[in-house]
Amino acid sequence: MELNHYNDPSVIDGCTVPVKVSSRSKIAPSTVSAGGVSFGPEGIVIIAGPCAVESREQLLGTAEVVKRSGGLMLRGGAFKPRTSPYKFQGLGEEGVRMLEEARKNTGLPFVTEVMDTRQVEFVAQYADMLQVGSRNMQNYPLLKEVGMQKKPVLLKRGMMATIEEFLLAAEYILNQGNDQVVLCERGIRTFETTTRNTLDLSAVPVLKNLCHLPVIVDPSHGTGHRWMVPAMAKAAVAAGADGLVMEVHYKPEEALCDGHQSIDPDELDELMSDLRKIALAIGRYIAEPRSSVL
Ligand code: PEP
Ligand code: MN
Repeated sequence: MELNHYNDPSVIDGCTVPVKVSSRSKIAPSTVSAGGVSFGPEGIVIIAGPCAVESREQLLGTAEVVKRSGGLMLRGGAFKPRTSPYKFQGLGEEGVRMLEEARKNTGLPFVTEVMDTRQVEFVAQYADMLQVGSRNMQNYPLLKEVGMQKKPVLLKRGMMATIEEFLLAAEYILNQGNDQVVLCERGIRTFETTTRNTLDLSAVPVLKNLCHLPVIVDPSHGTGHRWMVPAMAKAAVAAGADGLVMEVHYKPEEALCDGHQSIDPDELDELMSDLRKIALAIGRYIAEPRSSVL
């Protein structure tokens, strides 16, 4: 019989947890390392950057903003999953090369999305971390492909996915030999229409109880509104998130994608200072760039 790790799952809090991601399979929470940045139970990692890489000027300008505010990692989509085929689809490989230039300028490692197995090898040559987006959480060939890479993976929760399905998606990656996986709660679809998604912050303690992987939160896609991002970012840290991934743009009103949910440089600065206080209040800290620790 084919070896099937789902044959021997543990049931925790009514959730059938696959073996490799299960918190019962490890004595301590995992640490995932991406371009020198550690996701895990200690420092809280702030990832920020534009929804999409739009131009060299926009990316380099925004990367400087992230660096100055104390962000540890840059985000930016080069291959964009857009609902409408008529909207900006991203700069593709050129965008990935711009991210590399931004890393060279600022020292910030970057995470960027892969949507298709054919993109993975190229993106993995450049990126510090591969993102599998919400729409692809159950794209099994893609999960297997990123599982075969030697790069950490940021796996976002499918917008319709249960926690069990989310954990099974992560298990696909671990099954290929890649245990460097960070889970990201980014909101789920509910009947509610005042927010783009319903940010399920209860997923943070639930996931941390069920599995050993680091858990971060995306309050940008989780709310869809720039003005709600600081409140939910702070709530996520208070709830125990190991990091945040947020959309920031140096000129949100000019963004080609998701400007309505992108905070500006001043808002990021103010938020970072609030996050430091909240982290301290719960016995943690916002991880600092290595140069300022030395
Ligand atoms: C993104 O982070 O760029 C993105 C498209 O988010 P999600 O996959 O969560 O919708
Ligand atoms: Mn976006």
